Amino acid sequence: MFGNSWQDRVDGFLEKPEANQKRRPPGAARFRGRRIVHIDMDAYFAALEEIKNPHLAGKPIAVGSSPTSRGVVSTASYPARRYGVRSGMSTREALRLCPQVIFVGSELQQYTYVSAELINIYHKFSPSVQATSVDEAFLDITGCAHLYGSEEQLGRQLKNTIRDKLSLTCSVGIASTKVMAKVASSVFKPDGLTVLDQQGIIQIVHPLPVGKLWGVGPSTLRALEEIGIKTIGDLAHWPVDKLRRRLGSFGEALRLIARGEDDSRVLAQEEPPQDKSMSHERTLPLKAVSRDYQLATLHYLCDRVTRRMRRHNYEGRTVTLKLRWTDFKTITRAITFSQYTDDTLHIYKIVKGIWQAAVGESNKPVRLLGVAVSHLREKVNNPQLGLFDNSAGRRHKITDTFIDSLRDKYGESVIHRAYSHLGSD
Ligand SMILES: [Mg+2]
Repeated sequence: MFGNSWQDRVDGFLEKPEANQKRRPPGAARFRGRRIVHIDMDAYFAALEEIKNPHLAGKPIAVGSSPTSRGVVSTASYPARRYGVRSGMSTREALRLCPQVIFVGSELQQYTYVSAELINIYHKFSPSVQATSVDEAFLDITGCAHLYGSEEQLGRQLKNTIRDKLSLTCSVGIASTKVMAKVASSVFKPDGLTVLDQQGIIQIVHPLPVGKLWGVGPSTLRALEEIGIKTIGDLAHWPVDKLRRRLGSFGEALRLIARGEDDSRVLAQEEPPQDKSMSHERTLPLKAVSRDYQLATLHYLCDRVTRRMRRHNYEGRTVTLKLRWTDFKTITRAITFSQYTDDTLHIYKIVKGIWQAAVGESNKPVRLLGVAVSHLREKVNNPQLGLFDNSAGRRHKITDTFIDSLRDKYGESVIHRAYSHLGSD
């Protein structure tokens, strides 16, 4: 019953225990010395709406669709929470609890933009950042705190930076594991900062009901209560063999979590989404190459860049061509569009246009070509109408999706675009 359920329970938040064991070098100290920050933005969507419409500040507001439709509240401001309005509640229920509540529609696109700004701020404090949702993230700050004086000062500076740059408050928790850091960030809200050492785990976390521990879902909670475990502290001190008998290896893993001794790492994303670009470049053979060869190389580069964009779920709207001649003179030319895209052929056509303008009719030998796409944002699922909502765009989409799925399955070299074969590896 509990054997195969890690992923469901923790929803990708923790690694599977066996995955951890594989990555850990033999004999390495386990969790010792690791320090993790958890950041949870306070009433995030509501706070963003208040910034846009200052007259909403301090009022009970609920972000979500209007009460006439069958919508749910995605975030409630703190004044609304005082009436019992909560996220996930139906808008109708929210209105019943708090008749003066003001509903505002959610602007998901804007929210994700600010989330990307937040991630940029996090990267100034640690190279290891894992955003778990639009308003929550983990940072591994092992070995970073001394740069700020102390962990508390690091936390304070992080909060100040977010407040100064984005006018937002957040609650920060710092501890030795991800779960404990998350618990710590929830201890004082809003605008809290809690640093937990091992003593703090015993004093603050262990008295909490065991259901508050991340990873304990309703059925696990029932199983734990049946054997007499009420608090997180009970779980931490329960005999391992009894837990194993009832819950298998999951019980043992939960016990480690409750002790603040689990080994989940911050799973840093490869690319921070904003202010970054994705690029690919290639040095051409020393012998002069034809115009066709250059175009095929550009096609190949566009293919590589857009493949990576799609894999990370990004779209971009600035396309840059880099071109270096054999005399090392180098130019970069960029075009920015009003709409975002991840369409390989569309980006190739833009690059080709820039290339034609740059080289003209000359046959001056080219040494290097590069393609970059910047102004990246996380892809929005309902594309705007217009430029890309035409049959060519749809055809490209089908081709791109098909090629991506083949490569996901069989590797990158399983398929090449016909025109890019000259430039391929
Ligand atoms: Mg939050």
